[in-house]
Amino acid sequence: MPKKNSGNKKAEEKTDYKREFKLLDENPGTVYLSASRIGMHVRCPKQYEFRYIEGLKMRPSGAMILGGSWHAALEVNYKQKIESRSDIKSTDMTEIFANSFDERVKNEEIDWKDEKPGVVKDVGVEITVLHHRQIAPTVQPVTVEQEFLVPFTDTNKLYGFLDVVDNKRFIVENKTAGRTPSEDDLFKDVQLTAYSYAYRSLYGKDEAGIRKDIAVETKVPKTVQMKTTRDGNSIEILRQMAKGVESNTKSGVFPPNPNSFLCSKKWCGFWDLCMGKKQKTTIFSDLGEKK
Ligand code: SF4
Repeated sequence: MPKKNSGNKKAEEKTDYKREFKLLDENPGTVYLSASRIGMHVRCPKQYEFRYIEGLKMRPSGAMILGGSWHAALEVNYKQKIESRSDIKSTDMTEIFANSFDERVKNEEIDWKDEKPGVVKDVGVEITVLHHRQIAPTVQPVTVEQEFLVPFTDTNKLYGFLDVVDNKRFIVENKTAGRTPSEDDLFKDVQLTAYSYAYRSLYGKDEAGIRKDIAVETKVPKTVQMKTTRDGNSIEILRQMAKGVESNTKSGVFPPNPNSFLCSKKWCGFWDLCMGKKQKTTIFSDLGEKK
């Protein structure tokens, strides 16, 4: 069953373990949206209502714990690399990953679905080593985990963190995924559009490009680097999506979306509160036979 939040906005936004929220602390009462909020609203407004209006929290999945701990190891390496210009040892990165993973498993209520924690951890160690060997040497960070809170619509600011900005003015997002995204996935990714808008607002100029550095958790894990770009039209589309969130919030209307690819007992933590309690399915077989 989803848990009720304390009502703390920072806790609601928290997707990565132990992240700090300095700008929200310094600007109490700021009305803001993030790419993850906008994305959830598009996938299912009802899910958005459960999560951000009612403040209910879904239990993190094993994949989220793996992704967050992997991210923590990359962050430590990249932060020190701004000055040192060299990567820490692979074993240091896997140790950071494992410590973060173990701590989260100990302290959080995780929805493992059909996964085994030990197997998930082994995959995490493997993709941390892969990242260290194949991706980290290609990245020279200039900023890491840069927090942003920038004007966006008449009523909302846009909030989030830029994973990495590198020395070639590329915005880099570090991501774990179950499959390699398509070109189309990248083109439509609202998170990347939000990064682009934030970069332009912070630096007063366009980024050179956006790259997704991905650890793909296939049977044999691999890494992929994919590049994309954004223009004014992409940003305008994101702004219109944000206005849709504002409009629904104002009217208090959050329609469910059973056609969302996430609408299932497995993938929506609010299933029992929403579709589950109403579900009654009759399966007809042998339709040709009358009784
Ligand atoms: S069960 Fe389906 S319709 Fe209901 S909140 Fe979840 S995704 Fe939306």
